Amino acid sequence: MRYFSTRNDRLNCSAAQAIAMGIAPDGGLFVPETVPKVDRAFLERLCSLNYRARAAEIMRLYLEDFDPGELDGFVTAAYGDNFDDPAVAPTRFLAADTALLELWHGPTCAFKDMALQMLPRLLTASLRKTGEQRQVCILVATSGDTGKAALEGFRDVAGTRIFVFYPDGGVSRIQRLQMVTQAGENVGVCAVRGNFDDAQTGVKKIFGDAAFAQELTGRGWYLSSANSINWGRLLPQIAYYFSAYCDCVNAGRVKPGEKLVFCVPTGNFGNILAGWFAREMGLPVSRFVCASNANNVLTDFIRTGVYDRNRPFHTTISPSMDILVSSNLERLLYYMTGDAATGGFMAKLNAEGRYALDADTRERVQAVFSAGCCGDGATREAISRVFREKGYLMDTHTAVAWQVLEDYRRETGDKSQAVVVSTASPFKFAADVLDALGKTAGEDPLRALSDASGLPVPAPLRGLDARPVRFPAVADKAEMRAVVGRFLE
Ligand SMILES: *Cc1c(COP(=O)(O)O)cnc(C)c1O
Repeated sequence: MRYFSTRNDRLNCSAAQAIAMGIAPDGGLFVPETVPKVDRAFLERLCSLNYRARAAEIMRLYLEDFDPGELDGFVTAAYGDNFDDPAVAPTRFLAADTALLELWHGPTCAFKDMALQMLPRLLTASLRKTGEQRQVCILVATSGDTGKAALEGFRDVAGTRIFVFYPDGGVSRIQRLQMVTQAGENVGVCAVRGNFDDAQTGVKKIFGDAAFAQELTGRGWYLSSANSINWGRLLPQIAYYFSAYCDCVNAGRVKPGEKLVFCVPTGNFGNILAGWFAREMGLPVSRFVCASNANNVLTDFIRTGVYDRNRPFHTTISPSMDILVSSNLERLLYYMTGDAATGGFMAKLNAEGRYALDADTRERVQAVFSAGCCGDGATREAISRVFREKGYLMDTHTAVAWQVLEDYRRETGDKSQAVVVSTASPFKFAADVLDALGKTAGEDPLRALSDASGLPVPAPLRGLDARPVRFPAVADKAEMRAVVGRFLE
């Protein structure tokens, strides 16, 4: 199967090349030329498999230049005892009509592990297949979750190094401790004086610096990205939509072939887009509900067809969804309008921060997606209500989706079986979750949340305070390139 750029479908390459390059040379994102279809028999077979085997079956359909044994090895390693639940991505049935898909049992307690435990394996194999002679250094600017998940994914992976920049004072205490105490011989972390945008702009500048790239090539290195524009990060996410469906069939919640609704807490549109691919492949899904916090660019887009990033940025208690430009939307636009129109929309977004869909395209989007948003107050109430009524503790991102699903059902009367995609452990956002329960966090929010909920603190978050700080450095924006240069000496 060939892969195209979303901005030019004459530009095509193999899966391994798409994963090795990350982003297309014309600035577009790589997409498969066709979406493979599965039938009822495939789905029924999937239902009898465990998570690892389900993931291998799905990924194999897109990776024809990888051999099946290779993929079996990858899923075994990526989704093994680094996950604290043998089901890897378990589905919990909380109400007669609602299930929760828990995607946070990996080493960093957030859903990014589902992709970032797999990406390093796909990437290093892709480099071998494309004959790349240089070693790869992954460069990340993070507002919290991605940096840690990428560090865990790439640590001690042969032929790679990884360097993460985070805004000094701009991530939570737990997130900072997770990164500055990171283990591994090929990792580096540095704070940047400034906010997330400063760190992100600095990293983009390094990526765009041709002279620096040439200097690194001379030393046998090239730079790549671990964010969700890489196909190798999106692909592993398609698998868990299939897995959740199988769990619902196995639990008798739906009959084989009956349609589900998924409600997804959304930022960069990567997670929910993976669901859209699953539906295109033939997974019985009637609708995706796109859930946002106060940064509700996507709610407006799906409801009106106008994407407009010219609006205030809000800092919320669901920070991983504090995003105004959702990069993966470009892939959806490609399938809905083609390469020429997509290139045009992206150029408008760049120049004016805004574009508007024509009526046909808007209707195509609305045929599959609904959208809603909810503020911090309603998020806290959802956490407290669900804990009180069902004894289940949600993190702030999952709570946004829970609330938006309730609103969606009230507005539409849709009574289908629904799955809320749960993207983080409540312990990862302990202080805000405690606040929602009406408790004070005190000195040790993890301990306090454990006491309030009766749940154990997840092992990866335990004892963070006691671990040695390996990466105390703070740099100015202007020094970022030099920091990377020294790291690769
Ligand atoms: C990254 C993240 C999201 C948003 O996912 P996208 O793929 O960017 O839409 C939601 N919740 C949590 C906890 C995350 O870390």
